[in-house]
Amino acid sequence: MKAFADMTLDEILKDGGWDCECGRHHGAGLKYLKVERGAVRFLPEALEKLGKKKPFIVCDHNTKKAAWAQVKAVLDEADIPYVLYEFPYDEIEPDEYAVGCLTMAFDRSCDVALAIGSGVINDCCKVLAHAIGIPSMVVGTAPSMDGYASNSSSMIRNRIKVTLYNACPAAIIADIDIMAQAPERMLWAGLGDMLAKYVSICEWRISNLIIDEYYCENIAGLMRASLKQIVDAAPRLMERDPDTIEAVVKGLVLSGVAMAFAEISRPASGLEHYFSHLWEMMALDRGKPYERHGIQVGVGTLLTLRIYDQLRQMKPDRETAQKFIATFDEELWRSHTRRVFGKAAEAVIEQAEREEKNSAQKHAVRLERTLENWDKILQIVDEELPPTQDIAALMEQLGMPMLPGDIGVNDQDTIDGLRGSRDIRDKYLSSTMLWDLGLLYTLPVPGVKEA
Ligand SMILES: [Zn+2]
Ligand SMILES: [Zn+2]
Repeated sequence: MKAFADMTLDEILKDGGWDCECGRHHGAGLKYLKVERGAVRFLPEALEKLGKKKPFIVCDHNTKKAAWAQVKAVLDEADIPYVLYEFPYDEIEPDEYAVGCLTMAFDRSCDVALAIGSGVINDCCKVLAHAIGIPSMVVGTAPSMDGYASNSSSMIRNRIKVTLYNACPAAIIADIDIMAQAPERMLWAGLGDMLAKYVSICEWRISNLIIDEYYCENIAGLMRASLKQIVDAAPRLMERDPDTIEAVVKGLVLSGVAMAFAEISRPASGLEHYFSHLWEMMALDRGKPYERHGIQVGVGTLLTLRIYDQLRQMKPDRETAQKFIATFDEELWRSHTRRVFGKAAEAVIEQAEREEKNSAQKHAVRLERTLENWDKILQIVDEELPPTQDIAALMEQLGMPMLPGDIGVNDQDTIDGLRGSRDIRDKYLSSTMLWDLGLLYTLPVPGVKEA
């Protein structure tokens, strides 16, 4: 079998999927994809391909402005009936409330959920569609994130950021004429969400090495290829020429396919995403606004690269790690957790207990493997991570926010973002490794002064 990284999008998405050398079968469930100028005109063809007759269309004020006129014209012209739901409020959180709004508005004569939008609307539609047993599809409005083709939704449940695994959209229509009009911040966000992949692939390999997490080199290769496609196009991103936007959109779709193939978000999300998840949870807890996902992730990526720059200089020390775990103060950890997570804290603590997050026994096993494999870890880091200054230079050239302070995140929240990252999910992160080495609470966070 040819490597995914060497296939065209059409090949990768062939019906029936692929039996991979990793021992798993990879399929995406995406049946229809158009990425080109004027692609909205293919909407009737996409519906026909799915055998669907009446979409339940979901948009918000902004995405309605961006694409509804075009979509409506195409549907009317083809005599396709529909029900339109426009969120009546701004700043939609992908939470129980938003999904509840959709559920209450859903018209049972509709047979497919059609999102007009990017991250949040697509995610909410995936959840709705999965719950009621219909397919979802999307008309993208911005190249702002990589979840178009993924089989998961990034949601807020019970105040905690979670990844819900449902189904990937059955059809994606990315009209480059629409997407090229997206606001500057959304273009930054799409790039930020992709720069994350350097870290996520690196972390995936380390996790495979230390805790035997499932890993597929073929999927990792696909992710590297989609990342390269976007980084190569990135210097011209702000010029918005259609070829560049198209290359970026295709890279974002591929990244989502890689996630769908892996059936986990791992190839796309590592510590850099957890900075974003925590900052978002903190902001929600305080009722404060927060920056767009991909922009936060870009800042988190630069932070994580700088943390790795420190790690490369270090020699892990068994004594430090053993002393750390021997004196680990569960009560103190709880009180920090309550301070950082506010109203979500009890759920976080309960979950951490269930997952035996602070177990000395598990710590000992991971520590041994980390110490044994330190040279291999450094080799993975060298192979996967680009020079930090290259990424910083690219972000600076595009005018992107680069530091937590650029997006209104203060020093304490930056520190808490790192230290709390291992607490919200059962996932091995760079912060887990730092915790295992006894360094998570003492390592200086790059660019940040401890209070
Ligand atoms: Zn595989
Ligand atoms: Zn992301």
